[in-house]
Amino acid sequence: MFSKISESIKSAVGKIKFFDDEKSLKKALEELKKSLLKADVHHKVTKDLINEVYLETKKNGIGKDNFLKALQNALTAILTVEGPQGFVFSRKPPTVVLMSGLQGSGKTTTVGKLAYFLKQRNKKVLMVACDLQRLAAVEQLGQISKQIDVELFSDESGKKSIDIAREALERARSAHFDVVLIDTAGRLAIDEELMNELANLKTNLQPDEIFYVADSLTGQDAVRTAATFQERVGITGVVLTKFDGDTTGGVAIGIANQIQVPLRFVGVGEKMPDLEQFIPDRIVSRLLGAGDVESLAEKVSTVIDEKKAKELNKKIKKGGFNFNDFLEQMENVKKLGSMKSILGMIPGMSGMVSQLGDMDLENSKEMKQIRGMIMSMTKKEREDPELLTAGRKKRIAAGAGLSDQQVNRVLKQFKNASKMAKKFSGKKGLKNLQSMMGQMNAPSSKLNN
Ligand code: GDP
Repeated sequence: MFSKISESIKSAVGKIKFFDDEKSLKKALEELKKSLLKADVHHKVTKDLINEVYLETKKNGIGKDNFLKALQNALTAILTVEGPQGFVFSRKPPTVVLMSGLQGSGKTTTVGKLAYFLKQRNKKVLMVACDLQRLAAVEQLGQISKQIDVELFSDESGKKSIDIAREALERARSAHFDVVLIDTAGRLAIDEELMNELANLKTNLQPDEIFYVADSLTGQDAVRTAATFQERVGITGVVLTKFDGDTTGGVAIGIANQIQVPLRFVGVGEKMPDLEQFIPDRIVSRLLGAGDVESLAEKVSTVIDEKKAKELNKKIKKGGFNFNDFLEQMENVKKLGSMKSILGMIPGMSGMVSQLGDMDLENSKEMKQIRGMIMSMTKKEREDPELLTAGRKKRIAAGAGLSDQQVNRVLKQFKNASKMAKKFSGKKGLKNLQSMMGQMNAPSSKLNN
């Protein structure tokens, strides 16, 4: 996300040198202003931001470092409004969240994504199907429930949404659920009936949170509808979906400031792991090209067990990394979400994101070949790559529908990868990796001071 804005910020920063004059500051700000407006950041938000950066840079002395610092502060201020960040649990479980939004915004998908996000953090979640307006929504949530293995509360007997929600809450209380996510009815556009139904659910259920799910592709319309929901029902957070699409990103910069409700999550794809928390200072770090190592570490820790990671590290050091380990790690990578979203969090790599297009690592031809090969191996062969003699390789090639050369190539790649892993494992390896990352991150490393 934000690769376009991030690029133009970098270009503006590049226009300023140490001990520079007011003329070049104004030039840089003019460029920044143009690109923010082009990215659909609201004009008032843009004006305030530019003004703030101008005043602070001038106060501290015009130069690259001061400009960056001022920009960092002003962006953080714009993105931060009073209210919770990320997901907040109520003191007395279950935490009850009403999910609201217009039809097609991605509301039902987001219920699943949030449930998955919480499940990864070892929370017991109940999803409740109360979108009775769009008939397929109940079935859709049923499929998601099976896919992510999270319980669904639904009713087929024609009860009203308020009664279904009440019963779901009773179930959640008695069975000690941590979180209840209630999918509510959507409409094609805002209408009285929709607002009344939500207001009624709010009064009767007293939820801890009401999230408004908005489609970022609708640009400033997303902000306007969110403002109406805020006015009529009162919302505690916004989730912007489809941030992976052709969105310019401006809505995410301005929305919290414009409606004074925090942006809490961003949807970055159609799959269940494609949801990211929106934590302002981390986002600013990403906008300025300095990555978001904190979010990445958090994400990784939800899919990789620390004990297992240590064991694997030992194995790698001994050169014993085998095909089973490889398959398991591939599954873990899949759980992290799209390659694009991961790269965006790595310092210095954000620039690559826009060039990646729709690269789908897990479904690439190479990955399919590797998976096919491993599936054609015996249990023993998977545990010990050294067993693969010419005869065995021939059998595997036939089983996976590949040529001998293809099998040899993949095996060579696997051996090289194991060698690399060995090099980067252990304390010395970490140092190697850090120095590599440091070099990549050199232009923006000052921000971390
Ligand atoms: P609802 O009517 O608001 O419940 O909308 P759905 O949850 O059914 O979503 C509508 C469409 O948007 C579906 O095709 C989803 O897969 C898609 N969608 C939802 N969130 C995202 C997202 O973050 N990125 C992308 N690319 N598609 C999304």
